Amino acid sequence: MSLVTVNPTNESTEMVIDRHTPEEVEQRIAQAAQAGVKLRKTTFAQRAAWMHAAADILEQQAEELGELITIEMGKPIQQSVAEVHKSANAMRFYADHAEEFLAGEQLEDPAKVNASSAWTFYQPLGVVLAVMPWNYPIWQVVRFAAPALMAGNTGLLKHASNVPQAALFLDTLFERGGFPAGSFRALLIGGGDVAQVIADPRVKAVTLTGSEPAGRSVASVAGDHIKKSVLELGGSDPFVVMPSADVQAAASTAVLARTNNNGQSCIAGKRIIVHADIYDEFTAAFVEHMTNLKVGNPLDPQTQIGPLATRDGRDDLAELVDDAVRKGAEVLTGGYIPEGAGYFYAPTVLAGLTDDMRLVQEEAFGPVATVYKVHSAEEALEVANQTEFGLSSAVWTTNVEEQEWFLRNVEAGAVFINGMTVSYQELPFGGIKNSGYGRELAAEGIREFCNLKTVWRA
Ligand code: NAP
Repeated sequence: MSLVTVNPTNESTEMVIDRHTPEEVEQRIAQAAQAGVKLRKTTFAQRAAWMHAAADILEQQAEELGELITIEMGKPIQQSVAEVHKSANAMRFYADHAEEFLAGEQLEDPAKVNASSAWTFYQPLGVVLAVMPWNYPIWQVVRFAAPALMAGNTGLLKHASNVPQAALFLDTLFERGGFPAGSFRALLIGGGDVAQVIADPRVKAVTLTGSEPAGRSVASVAGDHIKKSVLELGGSDPFVVMPSADVQAAASTAVLARTNNNGQSCIAGKRIIVHADIYDEFTAAFVEHMTNLKVGNPLDPQTQIGPLATRDGRDDLAELVDDAVRKGAEVLTGGYIPEGAGYFYAPTVLAGLTDDMRLVQEEAFGPVATVYKVHSAEEALEVANQTEFGLSSAVWTTNVEEQEWFLRNVEAGAVFINGMTVSYQELPFGGIKNSGYGRELAAEGIREFCNLKTVWRA
């Protein structure tokens, strides 16, 4: 079966690309393994020069690549171009900081371990497989690839099947910057072919960003072969608003937090939890903003919400909403598939959620927000934690005790206070519970795929 780019705005087939044959996959794994032998002998300075050059190339193509992203998966064009710039920045960040992040440590008092000296340092693991999603088709890959290559690893990319053009762009990017041929290779294969690649003895570790079922499958195969894995899975992040908050600012930020990337972001504020004292004021503003969002062609710079990336994704979202409505949820705006071509879904706000509704537990991957009314900080936390996911969270309160209590007790990999969750290259990123394990970005991200070697000298 071929890989196909279907433009989600008009449902037209833009490109059909053959999958790699088993022989081509074998050749590409071999190339990555051979490149790894060369790469681990290079210096940080050499790799940094190549990474900077690749970042420049990426940025020079920001406009055309932005258009390609929008045509392949439907996000508004300014967000696509911004994604390219953000990716180039992360490449430069790791080019400039990898050496410091991987410096290791000297033991201050080696006599305690009967040594004259003792220290640690980081070494690359070798070939790492990255299984990646379509929602940030360049950023997700770069936030793995930039630290991996700077550490001296090489990468194999199994990108989502609906973004083969992004995969092919990334296949050559690092080589164009100067990295040895084969340092980063895309494998045009399906999810069903991933287990075999993980099992290959030349592949030392795997990272997956994607859904929970894909994460379970990849982690279990990696476990069978005792290989390191990192999982960045879904989220159903709480966005809590307490009475001391700036309610209008919270409402407009919540709209952005929920609808950025057409609502298809793992760290979107999906469940909006609002204290009863300000519930009416917040909800009126939030619903008004959601209703006024401009939905349309994502290549139009005025568009705020484009189509969802795939028909299946849109239909799954519609089913989640329909299930909730059937069971008594109140539709404050939206709740329908607009007429016409394209995988659009109207920006939607639902209230009156009950535990029997799938939306309470499952991730809504699109512009659908659920609003919960609570009467205390304790109840807000209870609702916030009432999910199998634990990626990030946001809390709006100027009460310092409330902030402290929430940040200590929320079950999530991050807390953003009086703001929305954003991934920054300077901050570790990742989740707990069914949102996965391991961290990307910052120093922690580059260390995930390294061997921390301990040295003891008599
Ligand atoms: P997905 O269906 O899990 O796909 C992600 C990747 O995994 C694709 O390359 C896919 O390949 C592959 N895959 C699917 N099933 C597999 C299996 N059984 N074995 C091996 N590989 C498999 O997820 P998606 O729909 O593309 O992305 C949306 C999900 O990603 C959401 O849940 C979102 O929250 C999550 N996400 C998480 C983060 C984070 O950092 N935590 C960031 C972004 C997105 P095919 O395309 O060929 O099926």
